[in-house]
Amino acid sequence: MTHQFPSLSPDQKKELADIAQRIVAPGKGILAADESTGTMAKRLQKINVENTEENRRSFREILFSCDNSLANSVGGVIFFHETLYQKSDSGKLFPQVIKDKGIVVGIKVDKGTAGLNGTDGETTTQGLDGLSERCAQYKKDGCDFAKWRCVLKISDGCPSALGIAENANVLARYASICQQNGLVPIVEPEILPDGDHDLQRCQYVTEKVLAAVYKALSDHHVYLEGTLLKPNMVTAGHSCTKKYTPQEVAMATVTALMRTVPAAVPGITFLSGGQSEEEASVHLNAINQVPLRRPWKLSFSYGRALQASALAAWQGKTANKAAAQQAFFERAKINGLASKGEYKPSGSADQASMQSLHTPSYIY
Ligand code: 13P
Repeated sequence: MTHQFPSLSPDQKKELADIAQRIVAPGKGILAADESTGTMAKRLQKINVENTEENRRSFREILFSCDNSLANSVGGVIFFHETLYQKSDSGKLFPQVIKDKGIVVGIKVDKGTAGLNGTDGETTTQGLDGLSERCAQYKKDGCDFAKWRCVLKISDGCPSALGIAENANVLARYASICQQNGLVPIVEPEILPDGDHDLQRCQYVTEKVLAAVYKALSDHHVYLEGTLLKPNMVTAGHSCTKKYTPQEVAMATVTALMRTVPAAVPGITFLSGGQSEEEASVHLNAINQVPLRRPWKLSFSYGRALQASALAAWQGKTANKAAAQQAFFERAKINGLASKGEYKPSGSADQASMQSLHTPSYIY
């Protein structure tokens, strides 16, 4: 028989559970605005804007200075380190701008991926060294949750047993450190959509990965009520020739989650993973209409699928700020509705929102 030693006090547990519940309150999800400087370079390059600190700030200003009613559909915003210490046009620190709207501030704490030697290009995620100290500082600086992205891929031999075990363990270790420092960990084991595999194979792999993640979280005594899961939706590979309906995607996704994610987890906030904005919204809506028992909130934590239209509208020009903000606000509202299964597509989605946002071997 194993023994449990106390790790979190009842007050610490309550604080964590309350934060998680606030983020996924009804109709709310997460804006992932934690693109690293390198990823921002690629985003800005697409609209011919130079990747300077000021241009990165200006784009985040568009997102963060949205009307206060953004809080009706966004419960949390994930920041990148640099952005946490930048100021809005009106001179207020960005985290304060977000908090003043009643939205919870989060921070990406991983340091990117590193290869697992002897595997077919699989990776683990780095950043455990000094993590506790960094989390303590981020908590002081206004953060209440954190994100750490692990990446797995599907191919003939992947993910390997090592890839699954290593990533599950590092996610659990990260989650445990976050909770000790008062941050709700978003646990993100992303299975990339690269490949020509079908829906069933993605479902099978997703189940195996999530089962391993929850075993590791249990082994590390992670308090599940104070966590959020950020998984991929179960979709066919990007190059799969067979197409599936949103209802098929939704059924496969919720089935995989039902089989592996404990009901104690308050919320599951999907990444968009290269789906177009509209596709990500339609899939989330279908997921919330699946005729299966769903004990957790099923919502969004989108990066690309919340920002693509806004970026396209902005083009780096101050004159386009209002239009870009409107585009972002509209996507947030749509996803808020989809998180309740209440989105009714008008059938007239614009070109930008229908465009695939897929990048092979995506680095965040
Ligand atoms: P996408 O929604 O663009 O996939 O990114 C979300 C994210 O935060 C990945 O870690």
